[in-house]
Amino acid sequence: MPNYKSRLSKLRKRMNAAGIDALVVFEPHNIFYLCGSNGGFTGAKIGLMVDANTSTLIIDKRYLEEARRTAVADKILAWTVPSYAELVEIAKKLKAKKIGFEPAYVTVKQYERLAKDFEGVQLVGVTGLVEPVRETKDAGELRKIAKAAEIGDLAFAHILEFMKPGVAELDVAIELDFFMRKHGSEKPSFETIVASGTNSAVPHATPSNKKIEAGDFVTLDFGAVVDGYHSDVTRTIVVGKARQKQKKIYGIVKEAQATALNAVVSGAICQDLDEIARDIISDAGYGEAFVHNLGHGVGLEVHEAPALGKGSETKLKPNMVVTIEPGIYLNGFGGVRIEDLVVVTKSGYKLLTHSTKDLLEL
Ligand code: ZN
Ligand code: ZN
Repeated sequence: MPNYKSRLSKLRKRMNAAGIDALVVFEPHNIFYLCGSNGGFTGAKIGLMVDANTSTLIIDKRYLEEARRTAVADKILAWTVPSYAELVEIAKKLKAKKIGFEPAYVTVKQYERLAKDFEGVQLVGVTGLVEPVRETKDAGELRKIAKAAEIGDLAFAHILEFMKPGVAELDVAIELDFFMRKHGSEKPSFETIVASGTNSAVPHATPSNKKIEAGDFVTLDFGAVVDGYHSDVTRTIVVGKARQKQKKIYGIVKEAQATALNAVVSGAICQDLDEIARDIISDAGYGEAFVHNLGHGVGLEVHEAPALGKGSETKLKPNMVVTIEPGIYLNGFGGVRIEDLVVVTKSGYKLLTHSTKDLLEL
């Protein structure tokens, strides 16, 4: 059982600093993180109010019984549409003056309702209260992510046997997804990417009916989910013999990835890591072709804080889980991305993805 008390006490410190008496959380992953209720992943109505001493979960009636069994909150109430009456009662007892909400997850309609129900209380949009707490993982979370990454490694080994000229990208994607589910993944971590030939020049290509041809680069980007926790890995291979230019591009990305990886350590600044990889790719003449950030945090969401990119001054801390994934994408030619998932440690990092990064020629 996760230590919800410790999570809430970290959040309360941040709420104090933000000067709010209570926070109404609507983002479902944040709610799950703070109390263990998972009704929110289905799009059901759910909200969690955290004040200085208590937490109150309001949840769609269909998930009420399950929440009462599994969630950890001082009060668990049915969502009575369309009012926040119960929360207002608690706020009144608290004599709350300022209540925070997550502006990115509240619709205009919801806001109007909140403003009406909480009349007389100042409602303030506050961003980044729960997410930074989620950045650092506890032992239980690390185990789940490591398990998800292990399923990814097994799936990669399996798919190498499956890919050959004439097999469609879509069939490779389905096979990857099926294999991961068979080996303990709840669902794909995100829509699996299988991009072959010139399609691999699109960083987030959707698998198509295109058949893999001899000589194609194939970029595979996929992950598993274990108990709500994600993994994320990318490997690029060549089906058949690699051409000189393919070897060259691959070599640059591999060097950028290895160099950035070796700079991962507690205290490193996220945007500096991005720059380390970007410099290598730019020096090789392909700076314009590295069109995305170096990486991102991974946990309850496949993309979460911290961002490893320009403008991100976050310092890495032990037990953060991040990806390192530089790439080069050349229109009309193809692309290469190599992505590992790592846990940050005091002295460096621990690799969670173990699939080879040598250029494979199938
Ligand atoms: Zn990925
Ligand atoms: Zn990624």
